[in-house]
Amino acid sequence: MSYDESCLFCRIGRGEASADMVHEDDLVVAFRDISPKAPTHVLLIPREHVISAAELGQQHAEMLGRLFGVAAKLARDAGVADEGFRLVTNAGPGAGQSVNHLHFHLLGGRALGWPPG
Ligand code: AMP
Repeated sequence: MSYDESCLFCRIGRGEASADMVHEDDLVVAFRDISPKAPTHVLLIPREHVISAAELGQQHAEMLGRLFGVAAKLARDAGVADEGFRLVTNAGPGAGQSVNHLHFHLLGGRALGWPPG
């Protein structure tokens, strides 16, 4: 599994940097965003170092299936599944990606405007 020791989210995935974890398994971890933009704001990441959604391919199918299933469970557990939530990833600087390790934001608990800025 590829790992970049200079990558914050790789380090969180390996337990080398602290985070407010809400889920851990062999492929995916999820933790609360340190600067939440909604009452529910969780980040879901692969343990493997993938820079962004622009790198994804068929080889990531198992990890992505796991990640989306975990996201749905976390949305249900947080009580936002029925009212509505957003699962979104920013890829590249033009989209606002600030950490170069694939992550999906799970946002809920308030009205979410569309289209996003
Ligand atoms: P993005 O701007 O889409 O790349 O999202 C990166 C997210 O990571 C932002 O929402 C940050 O608040 C969040 N973040 C950065 N460092 C940490 C950290 N140590 N623990 C939890 N969330 C973090």
